[in-house]
Amino acid sequence: MTTLVLAATLALGQAPEANPVHAVTDIAHDFSFYFDGRFGGQYIEPAGGRNVMNWGTLHEYDLSNANLLILQSAGTPCPYPAEDVDAVREFLAQGGGVLVLGDYATFRDETAYHLNDLVQAFGAQFAMEPAIGPLTASAALTDGEVETYGGKTIVLGAPTDWEVLVTDAAGRAVLARRSVGTGALIVGSRALAGHNPDASDDINASWWQPLLIAAASAKPVDPSTPPQGAYPEHLVEREGLRLQFSDYMEPYADIIFEIYAECRPVLEDIMGVPPAEGMLASLILLPTGGGGFSSGQTIGLGVWWGGFPDERYGMIELIGHEGAHSWVLPFPEPTWNEPIATYVGAHLAIRLGLVEQGRATIERCIEGGLEHDPDMDQADLANPEGLPNAVVWGKTFWLWEQLRAEEPEIVAKYFQAKRRLADPDVIDAYTMHDAAVVLSEAMGRDLFPWLNDHGVRVSRDEAAIRP
Ligand SMILES: [Zn+2]
Repeated sequence: MTTLVLAATLALGQAPEANPVHAVTDIAHDFSFYFDGRFGGQYIEPAGGRNVMNWGTLHEYDLSNANLLILQSAGTPCPYPAEDVDAVREFLAQGGGVLVLGDYATFRDETAYHLNDLVQAFGAQFAMEPAIGPLTASAALTDGEVETYGGKTIVLGAPTDWEVLVTDAAGRAVLARRSVGTGALIVGSRALAGHNPDASDDINASWWQPLLIAAASAKPVDPSTPPQGAYPEHLVEREGLRLQFSDYMEPYADIIFEIYAECRPVLEDIMGVPPAEGMLASLILLPTGGGGFSSGQTIGLGVWWGGFPDERYGMIELIGHEGAHSWVLPFPEPTWNEPIATYVGAHLAIRLGLVEQGRATIERCIEGGLEHDPDMDQADLANPEGLPNAVVWGKTFWLWEQLRAEEPEIVAKYFQAKRRLADPDVIDAYTMHDAAVVLSEAMGRDLFPWLNDHGVRVSRDEAAIRP
């Protein structure tokens, strides 16, 4: 029966308009830019479905108007408590489709892959054994090739009604499905889907799309009511900052807020100005060790970044980095937007007493740049196309350290001058030429010759800012 539904939908190729796919992708257990919309953009939306993200505690999300749930996580310390398993079981009983994408991995010195706590309840287990290529698909899935980024295998146990859809060269399962009540559960290797943050690699879309449509088909949804994404459900106001987190992130909320509160005035001192109007109003805790983001108003902090909570340095540097991104607005910095954010983060840590670690970050970046530009007179930050990242970072750190040796408050003076001169009513973009004008104002002398001597081809004629 399930094979027939799959085959019929494969032939159809598009979601029936009467019952479209309403998908919810869980990024509450493991945040990644890829699963924050790219997966849906590659495999659900092109086939006519809708996809939203759940950032909050899974068992508190309202799945009533969804018919597809996508669960995924790499090695994360984030648990899948029994309430989450119950919510998934309930959703399957209502006819929902559940896709679980994983590859066995552990977090730091843990021994468990927590996504197994979820799939084991339904008779599957992500295994440590890598999948050996080439992979073979069942006839019901595709007569074409199966692409993969590598990945690992799965072990299928009781109940034994699994339909294996993809196997590796040793005959081990890589993707399988079974019916649970009227719902459909698909468990498979995360390496069968794309992973580029720019959504440029929709591998296997020709069979993922109909497979997911079929999985969602048994649960009716109201097409006139799109599914709604959910942010973390805990919202706490503290000293003018909105702090957002899920149940899973709650153990980290107090300590991260304390560190943030310690960083905030020091950061303002380094930057020389308060954040731009309306910026840095909220902080969202992300279940990842992979960094963070800034949207201006909101900054996201990966709670396991840089060894946190065991290590404080990484969290302070990250707060400085993401904070700086919000601070520099309305105009992001030109070429050096990323390195300057970490430069601010490293100095924030130094001012908070982590001198050795902050200095080490600065020196490491400069050394990386010197490998490409030994005399710091070649790499042109005004025309960065083709420049290795290491030299963009290294040169940025080197230039700023040179200026800071002469003027210890150069960062503050620069951002004060930028706030005064980079008027969004007057200019529409902020380039390296403009940054050189602002930097000259901040230093009180013309830095154009100095920058050009160091290979940065800036010109006052090309600047929009005319002080
Ligand atoms: Zn950044």
